[in-house]
Amino acid sequence: MPYLDAFERPIEYLRVSVTDRCNLRCVYCMPEEGVKFIPHSAILRYEEIVRIVRVAVGMGMKHVRLTGGEPLVRADIVELVRQLAAIPGLDDLSMTTNGIFLERYAEPLAEAGLKRVNISLDTLRPERFRRITRLGTLEKVLRGREAALKAGLKPVKINVVVVRGLNDDEVVDLARLSLEEDWHVRFIEVMPLGGGVHWAGDGVVSMQEVRRRIVAELGELEAVRGPGGVGPARYYRLPGAKGTLGFISPVSDHFCFRCNRLRLTSDGKILPCLLSNKYVDLRGPLRKGISDEELHDIFLHAIRIKPWEHKPAEMIGEEEVLPMSCIGG
Ligand code: SAM
Ligand code: SF4
Repeated sequence: MPYLDAFERPIEYLRVSVTDRCNLRCVYCMPEEGVKFIPHSAILRYEEIVRIVRVAVGMGMKHVRLTGGEPLVRADIVELVRQLAAIPGLDDLSMTTNGIFLERYAEPLAEAGLKRVNISLDTLRPERFRRITRLGTLEKVLRGREAALKAGLKPVKINVVVVRGLNDDEVVDLARLSLEEDWHVRFIEVMPLGGGVHWAGDGVVSMQEVRRRIVAELGELEAVRGPGGVGPARYYRLPGAKGTLGFISPVSDHFCFRCNRLRLTSDGKILPCLLSNKYVDLRGPLRKGISDEELHDIFLHAIRIKPWEHKPAEMIGEEEVLPMSCIGG
């Protein structure tokens, strides 16, 4: 059984950022140049991540998602997946990736025990994709998605960060993907973290607005059970559609009351809330040689101090929070 936090929410989901490095520079996530990376010596080693996850799983956190930065740029990531997948009690091991390297990695990741992937894809237009990611090639992501499906990393969910003036005119086209094929497309409000600070505010397109536009063009949405996972999206289906649509609205309508997660940053901080700068350091004690019982107690402390909710949307940017590329979304 998972532990309950102070507000009786079961904490059963751990997001693990394995690196703050990335092969892309998405405009809402990272600056184009001059990113200050965490020194390698401060990044958790694989044996440290495996030990932490083992203790977390023992505490009932049976869903683990690897993220970053870009998880597929970290050397020997398949080996980490293999070691994590072998932890007894870990029901669901997934990854969020930009998909650029998935064509190469999908098969070995699946073979090592990864269950499924979420792929970030904000546009279907090659030039726009390059403008948003600054460095990426759309075609590679599409091939990566195909490879993930072929390798059985299902359901593959697509994450679309919607930014006004950048890709909001494409929400209907992206939603249309769910009609013909098994696409699970999730729209996300841009948050004022990292590069997102410049795009939030006027750039936020509320999920109500995204839904309205989709319904006006493609028909009513029927609420359905999500395609697996324990995240914050609400899921719907267009009439006759094979896939689903999800809406994640951290800014306009936050879902804190059902938040079930902790985050582990690549340098070993446990973050009880994405939008707060409060964290509990795990790396320091770990490297001083604490026991698993002490590790357990530090986790329990992080669970107990998890806040009831984050602050109102208009105040989120005021506090210096860690960049998205450190936290992993
Ligand atoms: N590199 C991987 C990727 O892009 O999927 C994993 C890490 S990325 C930080 C995790 C998720 O956070 C992605 O879906 C990305 O689109 C989203 N994200 C990044 N910055 C964001 C922001 N400012 N607001 C909302 N979502 C953001
Ligand atoms: Fe990299 Fe993901 Fe951030 Fe884009 S959203 S810069 S792919 S970490």
